[in-house]
Amino acid sequence: MQLTRRTLIAEMVDAGSGAVIRSPIDVRTDPLTGHSSRILPHRGLMPANDFDLEALARKSEPSCPFCGERIMTLTPKLTPAIHPDGRIVAGEAVLFPNLHAYSSHSCVSVSSPRRHCLPLGEMTERLVADNLSTQVQHARAVIASDPASCWASINANHMLPSGSSLFHPHLQGVVDAEPTTQQRLLSAVAAPRFADYLETERRLGERWLGDTGRVQWLVSFAPIAPAELRAFVPGVASPEQLDDDLIAEAAHGLTVALHAYAAMGYESFNLAIYGAPPATGGYVLNLRLAARSNLRPLYRSDSTFLERLHWEGAVDLAPEDVAARISDSFRR
Ligand SMILES: [Zn+2]
Repeated sequence: MQLTRRTLIAEMVDAGSGAVIRSPIDVRTDPLTGHSSRILPHRGLMPANDFDLEALARKSEPSCPFCGERIMTLTPKLTPAIHPDGRIVAGEAVLFPNLHAYSSHSCVSVSSPRRHCLPLGEMTERLVADNLSTQVQHARAVIASDPASCWASINANHMLPSGSSLFHPHLQGVVDAEPTTQQRLLSAVAAPRFADYLETERRLGERWLGDTGRVQWLVSFAPIAPAELRAFVPGVASPEQLDDDLIAEAAHGLTVALHAYAAMGYESFNLAIYGAPPATGGYVLNLRLAARSNLRPLYRSDSTFLERLHWEGAVDLAPEDVAARISDSFRR
């Protein structure tokens, strides 16, 4: 596979010296969906966190609906057709319907009602695996009771800049009869292309993070968002097909990745695990994990007219630099 990139040059004249300034823009095309992305010269667009998250935690905790016993009275319950208990519990994680639904089956799963504040560096494999497990159980239950709702995804908005309205760490599941735009684009990728992409990145090595057994991790060649990582699970089409071993393996990789974000100074992220209908032959379950701007007063959003309205990534963190900074974490 040939990974497509070309360099555009912006020319301008320095107002003081009169010298010509040339600025390169590395435009890349994603090998799976064809979307394009601009890698800009580094200019510090994603500063490290300097916000007092614990102070905000103390302020938001007294009214948090996901904290302690409140979760059992302030959150809705699943219909009996989906789950007889109304909520799905695994370890400390608790799943319930999203009061503000995004789809016909829209759920929220809280990592732990006891952990209102969970900096990324303190995320544990156990918490991530248990939370993923509630989502997998939910997708499985929905698809069993409503087979037309066969498009499942597991997602996260973590911290306000990512779109989260609640401080308390949680995942969100969407199971629907309709794919999202990205699910539609990814499910249209010819099966050999996934293998070709993974083989190419493994051989090139500069964005390859590692193979944890059945899950393969790399840094996006053409990222939509800053420090974007991708993972692929060959042989699995939908999250509902993840068994306990694969959940544990995915949780391990996600925890390593989130700790790496913490080490880079990031505390906000988005996650999407893009499922296709379970019977989709050749589809490779895959995820994107993206860092978002840190919380701070008068902060700059990392999402601009390019991402929102042109569907074009624009980042000043070169994917190869991201890989160089975090690949050791995956090799440990
Ligand atoms: Zn809380």
